[in-house]
Amino acid sequence: MRDELRFGVLGGSFDPPHYGHLALAETARVQLNLARVVFVPAGEPPHKRHVDLSPIGDRIALVQAAIADNGAFALSRVDANRPGPHYTVDMLRLLRQEYPQVTSWHLLLGEDSLRDFLSWRAPEEILELAELAVMHRPDRPAPVEILQKHLPTLERRLIWLDMPPLHISATELRRRVREGLPVRYLVPLAVAVLIRKKQLYAG
Ligand code: ATP
Repeated sequence: MRDELRFGVLGGSFDPPHYGHLALAETARVQLNLARVVFVPAGEPPHKRHVDLSPIGDRIALVQAAIADNGAFALSRVDANRPGPHYTVDMLRLLRQEYPQVTSWHLLLGEDSLRDFLSWRAPEEILELAELAVMHRPDRPAPVEILQKHLPTLERRLIWLDMPPLHISATELRRRVREGLPVRYLVPLAVAVLIRKKQLYAG
């Protein structure tokens, strides 16, 4: 039998990446004994098709800066390299090809993402391809019982991460930059420096 190799994956728009993402990834890494957490910036997330995102090249650079000091974190371009919209189920299939040695995948999510899980493309297949590891976002709670009624497999494929909630969102960070408020200590210093250097979110 193959040796067990457990990976986590965190997809997102990362505009910009922040300590909410990093705490989610690190908590999952330790709690679920993951060898690696792969960050996957989406060029065009299906639920943000009409949102003006920063160029994918800038968001990749921001993620690289955010994860540089953690040897267990990696970046994948599986979504950045293909035309959108980028559905999670396709991303998971592609990651399986990119990392054939991995024996189990864990899809990391904030609770807000779980909230509309039923409207995602092929939620049942997603649950076959990966276990869900979810971090509470009390500001954006998910109706878990209703979800489980529609998706019975969810009960054994969902793990809650043990982590104090962090009220940080990229939307709030973009607003802060636009209004000249500090984002230091909400994002890694390297991300704050890059935001300034590239003059992102200045409005
Ligand atoms: P935006 O405010 O632009 O919608 P975001 O901060 O929610 O962005 P995304 O890149 O869209 O960030 O999120 C990627 C993943 O990280 C999603 O699953 C989201 O739920 C999760 N996430 C983002 N912020 C947090 C947070 N503070 N705590 C837990 N999970 C989070």
